[in-house]
Amino acid sequence: MDKEQTFPKDIWKKACKFGFIGCYIPEEYNGGGLGFLDNAFIMEEFTRADPGIGFILSVTLGAEVLIEYGSDAQKEKYLAPVPIGDAIMGIAITEPNAGSDVSGCTTMHAEKDGDTWILNGSKMFVTNGTIADHLLVLAVTDPDAERRHRRQSMFIVETGWDGFESTKIKGKAGMGASDTAELSFNNVEIPEENMVG
Ligand SMILES: Cc1cc2nc3c(=O)[nH]c(=O)nc-3n(C[C@H](O)[C@H](O)[C@H](O)COP(=O)(O)OP(=O)(O)OC[C@H]3O[C@@H](n4cnc5c(N)ncnc54)[C@H](O)[C@@H]3O)c2cc1C
Repeated sequence: MDKEQTFPKDIWKKACKFGFIGCYIPEEYNGGGLGFLDNAFIMEEFTRADPGIGFILSVTLGAEVLIEYGSDAQKEKYLAPVPIGDAIMGIAITEPNAGSDVSGCTTMHAEKDGDTWILNGSKMFVTNGTIADHLLVLAVTDPDAERRHRRQSMFIVETGWDGFESTKIKGKAGMGASDTAELSFNNVEIPEENMVG
């Protein structure tokens, strides 16, 4: 799988069955109700076999944001399917010109149009980018806010929506089994209820 750069779907499904995926997600949303340290122990054991396989646990990327800030309806719809293997998620923050400095992500923006937000821009190096069902996406919504880290909002975007495209990044130096992608958003319409905050 490392050589072929393919995501190990069968191992992911089996890991869900054993409760290894999203052990830190609350039980009411099908998780294990444990903590991040428990998740780290599980990841360490998977990574002992192969770092790309260890990254199976990252099918929950972005769950942390939903647990902390998501509405009950968002958690029910987008969080609950993940630990049981009914959905894969991810989080898209990094942009071609901004990584470590998250508040420097300025190219991706969302503009309000009635009850929807219109999302445009691109993201880089997104784990699960070509296999995810939905992604948490960071975009500028208030470019004039005085403090840089108050200019952005987080949205839940379903990858089947019009205007979304993902391109697999091939040839990483390692972790071939983990999917990494470049994303583009061209006038993607997001309903108001999919804004996390
Ligand atoms: C396999 C893989 C998967 C990834 N998955 C995701 C994902 O799912 N979602 C997502 O949004 N992003 C993802 N990323 C992107 C990752 O988060 C960024 O690569 C990371 O934030 C670093 O950003 P950068 O690559 O732009 O490097 P830069 O921010 O440009 O950093 C380059 C170098 O400068 C150093 N540096 C930067 N700022 C400072 C500072 N202030 N002081 C001292 N040193 C500094 C860094 O340590 C680094 O060595 C992934 C990347 C990889 C490689």
